[in-house]
Amino acid sequence: MDLGLKGRWALVCAASKGLGRGCAEALAGEGAHVVITARGVADLLATAEALRARHPGVEVRSVVGDIGTPLGRAAALAACPQVDILVNNAGGPPPGDFRDWDRDAWLAALDANMLAPIELMRATVDGMAARGFGRVVNITSGAVKSPIAVLGLSNGARSGLTGFVAGLARQPRLAAANVTINNLLPGAFDTDRLHKTFAASAAAAGASVADVAAARRAAIPAQRFGSAAEFGAICAMLCSAQAGYLTGQNILLDGGSYPGTF
Ligand code: NAP
Repeated sequence: MDLGLKGRWALVCAASKGLGRGCAEALAGEGAHVVITARGVADLLATAEALRARHPGVEVRSVVGDIGTPLGRAAALAACPQVDILVNNAGGPPPGDFRDWDRDAWLAALDANMLAPIELMRATVDGMAARGFGRVVNITSGAVKSPIAVLGLSNGARSGLTGFVAGLARQPRLAAANVTINNLLPGAFDTDRLHKTFAASAAAAGASVADVAAARRAAIPAQRFGSAAEFGAICAMLCSAQAGYLTGQNILLDGGSYPGTF
């Protein structure tokens, strides 16, 4: 199916690696021009080069910066001639015990995982509505639906974003103008982030990283971790021309891990 994305401009935040990169790859594969961001220069430039080599027909721009800061967001927006597609993403907050988190720890999590996506939506959705097409995909976490105790900063900040999006997506001036806003909730995906959490859990439990990974894999009905490519493919589907009636949803991609019927 042609997803109708050729020539659209996509701003994909935090996309030098992992899930963000998977989304950028899939969107470029559908013919969308992409602006990708990250803080680290080397990986970002390498990813941009790889995207250009694989998708010669699309324009790929890279912007170095922290998307959790006003400066990082301004640079990202300035590089994108018009934002037709916005994929909000940033690194996840660190694990820990809420007794150790002070106000600054909370503000850092809120900045990256709640306020940055809200600010970027504020900067883009009315323009999308005026042009009659817009797709926003927020990468959140399965922890929004099924909280993980040690990821309290993530549970809290992402739930704030989720509640906000539930209201925004249902504004008729957006929904009736073909602007959709949805959240993608990853379960366990095979990325650097996942491997870092395995290393931390293994160190805390005095177990090997391989054992921790095997136990986690065995608990997933699909019996495997997801790949960034399949995450990106679902993101591209949500951004497609055909998905205009799909808005305000929280879509779990977790290989069947969430145990509820709904
Ligand atoms: P990843 O493999 O560590 O990649 C993170 C990417 O984001 C990198 O390109 C990183 O580059 C960039 N980045 C991080 N913080 C940034 C910032 N403040 N500004 C700009 N770029 C930034 O992580 P991932 O697994 O793809 O995870 C993406 C998101 O999904 C995270 O929020 C994570 O918590 C969430 N999630 C992941 C999983 C999973 O299983 N992988 C599960 C649930 C939720 P730089 O470091 O160079 O900036």
